[in-house]
Amino acid sequence: MNYQSKEYRQYHRKWSMKWRAKHREKLNKKSREYYAQNKEKKRAYSRAWYKKNSKKVCIRAKKYRKKLGKKYTTHFRIWMRAWRAKHPEKIKEYHKKYYDSHYNKILKMNRKYKNGVGHNKVKLWSIDYNYRRRANISKNECSITTKDLRTITLTFKICPYCQIRKATTFEHIIPLLPRNISMPRGQHIKENIIRVCSSCNFSKQDKDPIKWCKEKGYPVPEIVIERLKIMKTMGVT
Ligand SMILES: [Zn+2]
Repeated sequence: MNYQSKEYRQYHRKWSMKWRAKHREKLNKKSREYYAQNKEKKRAYSRAWYKKNSKKVCIRAKKYRKKLGKKYTTHFRIWMRAWRAKHPEKIKEYHKKYYDSHYNKILKMNRKYKNGVGHNKVKLWSIDYNYRRRANISKNECSITTKDLRTITLTFKICPYCQIRKATTFEHIIPLLPRNISMPRGQHIKENIIRVCSSCNFSKQDKDPIKWCKEKGYPVPEIVIERLKIMKTMGVT
């Protein structure tokens, strides 16, 4: 028999595959035993191999991911979520390590976000938070959103009180915390908020809007009268 012939090689391959399938458990057990005995040797070998062929592995993995497409991402996400739920301490430790080693970078990025793209977002959010704190309500009790605040800023361009300066600050028509106890307490709702200039806002503070307008000699703005009527029908004041 010619052991180098193609037919023989094919025959041998088939036979060996059959044999392996028959003795799968035995083989698995053996390989497991071998791995347990030579753990470090095997690990070192695989590590060295990975170091040598890391680029190859990367390319192959990328191809595999591309081939599976969405299936892979959903599968990976599920797996990752399960792993995270299982090892919360590890994740905490990892975050801590990352924060310590990238502290300056994180600080820089936060500053950039605050001054750049997220500037208005952060500002509005912090303003809203402050108002909620003063009104003593939580986010869940609050009907106003940062989106509402943004629309208010876009609708008011000139201060309705003095009608000269630019409207740059939020104003609660009925103040949130009036010093005068007999006056009703204003609420942090859409109907109670307008935009005015900073000097009018500073001057008015927590006074009654109509009284303050008379004091200043300004005509009471139509918007204020309208809003007061609306709030009265709502039963807020
Ligand atoms: Zn003004």
